[in-house]
Amino acid sequence: MIRVDCKDCRYFRQAPYEAPRTGCWHPDHMEVAQKEPYLDQQQQPGDHRRINARGDCASFEARPPKPSFWKRLMNLGA
Ligand code: SF4
Repeated sequence: MIRVDCKDCRYFRQAPYEAPRTGCWHPDHMEVAQKEPYLDQQQQPGDHRRINARGDCASFEARPPKPSFWKRLMNLGA
């Protein structure tokens, strides 16, 4: 069995910088999901500790690698 950590998953977002609330933002696991962008504040992520309690979440997807410092600088147009 492969063990996965939510911190390495692309659906895990932490407040306050990545999302308004910390949790699992996978569409199948969210407690309240809204389609309209102006209702974003009503969205409730799933409880990642409960969903991945055994460390074997089937919805895990690895985060894409972070671009290098120079690549991010180039994207800013500097
Ligand atoms: S519960 Fe699953 S889908 Fe959600 S953040 Fe954790 S590993 Fe990813």
